[in-house]
Amino acid sequence: MWAFFSIHKIRIIIAALTGVIVFVAITIFWDQSVMFRKKTFYHANVSEKVVALTFDDGPSEKWTPLILDELKKAHIHATFFLVGKHVQQYPDIVKRIIAEGHEIGNHTMNHKVLFDLPLADAMKEVRDGEAVIERITGQTPTLFRPPKAWINSKQKKEIQKLGYTIVLWRINTKDWVTFDDKLILNYVDKKDRPGDIILFHDAGGVIKPEGGSRIETVKVIGQLAELLRKKGYRFVTVGELIKMQEAHER
Ligand SMILES: [Zn+2]
Repeated sequence: MWAFFSIHKIRIIIAALTGVIVFVAITIFWDQSVMFRKKTFYHANVSEKVVALTFDDGPSEKWTPLILDELKKAHIHATFFLVGKHVQQYPDIVKRIIAEGHEIGNHTMNHKVLFDLPLADAMKEVRDGEAVIERITGQTPTLFRPPKAWINSKQKKEIQKLGYTIVLWRINTKDWVTFDDKLILNYVDKKDRPGDIILFHDAGGVIKPEGGSRIETVKVIGQLAELLRKKGYRFVTVGELIKMQEAHER
């Protein structure tokens, strides 16, 4: 038995397990977007109690309609950062998002992490996503969110030159890894501040931007609306937050 599990093999197993534990801990307890906040809009400098809900990676055939139902019931207009290839797949859901008064932003064509991509390839991801959104909706998006927040300063500059505000978040609900709507609710309850941007997803698995379950996201929207309104908050879109900050700083 011990001959089979040599010291060498045991060391490899311990190293692999440590790696997995560290990865899980980082995923659960840390938000990588803090590394990329410079020159982005992740929180509005306002005194009024307002928050913006944002939904990334959609549309999803299954989850986006359910999330739209919940937002309608709660009388909330949110901001959806759409993935171009999903827009191509589900144009009618994108049209419903707009018809129901929500705001849309560009979340690239294929949801590739931009940070390590050559500038030309990163810009192609942005422009292709924009072109699909324009074709389906007739709107040119002015809000951009980089997949997984990873973006370098050169890319930020070029994307801003196209007229985009680069939008991140201050509150990450981690709805793509959670198994309990109450965890999301308690987390937001502990962190909320006026001007917050809150990150949710209406599509996507743990690794890929497809698949996954958003049942906790669907379940939490109504509860979150009630909780934050009780605390005196009003829900606005990211675009409205930007305008409020401009007015506040004038
Ligand atoms: Zn994403």
